Amino acid sequence: MPLLVMKFGGTSVADLARIRNAAQKVKSEVERGYDVIVIVSAMSGKTNELVGWVNETSPMYDAREYDAVVSSGENVTAGLMALTLQEMDVPARSWQGWQVPIQTTSQHGAARFQDIPRANLDAKFAEGFRVAVIAGFQGVSAEGRITTLGRGGSDTTAVAFAAAFDAERCDIYTDVDGIYTTDPRITSKARKLDKISFEEMLELASLGAKVLQTRSVELAMRYKVRLRVLSSFDDTDELSGTLVCDEDEIMESKVVSGVAYSREEAKLTLVTVEDRPGIAAAIFGPLSEAGVNVDMIVQNISEQNYKGREKPVTDMTFSCPVEQVARARKALETARDAGTISYDALEIDEDAAKVSVVGIGMRSHAGVAARMFRALADEGVNIKVIATSEIKISVLIDRKYMELAVQALHDAFELDKAG
Ligand code: ADP
Ligand code: ASP
Ligand code: MG
Repeated sequence: MPLLVMKFGGTSVADLARIRNAAQKVKSEVERGYDVIVIVSAMSGKTNELVGWVNETSPMYDAREYDAVVSSGENVTAGLMALTLQEMDVPARSWQGWQVPIQTTSQHGAARFQDIPRANLDAKFAEGFRVAVIAGFQGVSAEGRITTLGRGGSDTTAVAFAAAFDAERCDIYTDVDGIYTTDPRITSKARKLDKISFEEMLELASLGAKVLQTRSVELAMRYKVRLRVLSSFDDTDELSGTLVCDEDEIMESKVVSGVAYSREEAKLTLVTVEDRPGIAAAIFGPLSEAGVNVDMIVQNISEQNYKGREKPVTDMTFSCPVEQVARARKALETARDAGTISYDALEIDEDAAKVSVVGIGMRSHAGVAARMFRALADEGVNIKVIATSEIKISVLIDRKYMELAVQALHDAFELDKAG
């Protein structure tokens, strides 16, 4: 039988009525002749609550226990979804990660898929079950411990199952009716896209657009999964939502196709570090070992700093998520105490946000950066750090200007108009 993967995010399973609504959509697909693998998230707000409890109990927690706690939200919705389907006369069974088993690496809190053996689920489908409900976000390590895949990881569970079971499609049901030119909660001018390329969605996701977890887009691109985002609240059909697909399936030819933001960013500056070979490695090695996700990096060379000093010095600025600042500070202070780096001061700005424009058209068009900087200047937004790659430009700015900056860039690149 043809098979579909249907994933329901937190708001789509937020209470029993919504679980029934989602189950109804599953039942419709079963009636159309599909076997279905359903991936569920925890009820909305549940994972945040669990993470909060872990942090309150143990700020420098053991990541194995973090996973034991935060994976539990999905177990509840998986069981409830299977029960709801059974009540609707759909033969369904739930599976936690270890039961499948969804085999992952042992990086607790950020584990990656290794294998999803098909045998157990295939046997159940052969027995006549039509739906397998899988708890998203979780797996099991080689040591036999529960792992989780990072926030938003149920999207990745869905794509991984779609790849492993050759699903006809992987439908991600959420609280918006597709992928927009920017987060529709930031500007009502955001426009829904019919299609978006894997490359662009990958950039948007990694730059903060949480509608899909980055890793899910990576997997879909690698395994050629037909990935679609659509609303669990609307009536939907095969044409609903936004399809993530290959570049050559897309007709739009805009230079910039989307604006993404990441709200909770911090900017750290090491003032007067030695300017010598190996200094970057001495700084960023310990940060990486401490699990700090360093993003933008700028080394400022100022002639001024040379004056009156025996050796050349420089300032090193980088950004990372606000929640990792304490860990970053500790890693840098430890390195300084050990004598591997030296600096006069560590300046920390925890009120930053990152705003980015993304588009494959940038590969062949000049002038995008100038237009972006002009639009921000016209709104009086100061840029703290800039980073570019082939298809994106990101700026770090004061958090209080984030919404304004997203709106200004959306206007400047006329994203409300199809192109
Ligand atoms: P779920 O709980 O279903 O996984 P998420 O909250 O993780 O849902 O993702 C959906 C949210 O992503 C939307 O409510 C929206 O605010 C946000 N979002 C950010 N950028 C975009 C975008 N470009 N298009 C659509 N939604 C976006
Ligand atoms: N419940 C998890 C989270 O909130 C995973 C997910 O919903 O995708 O991050
Ligand atoms: Mg999500």
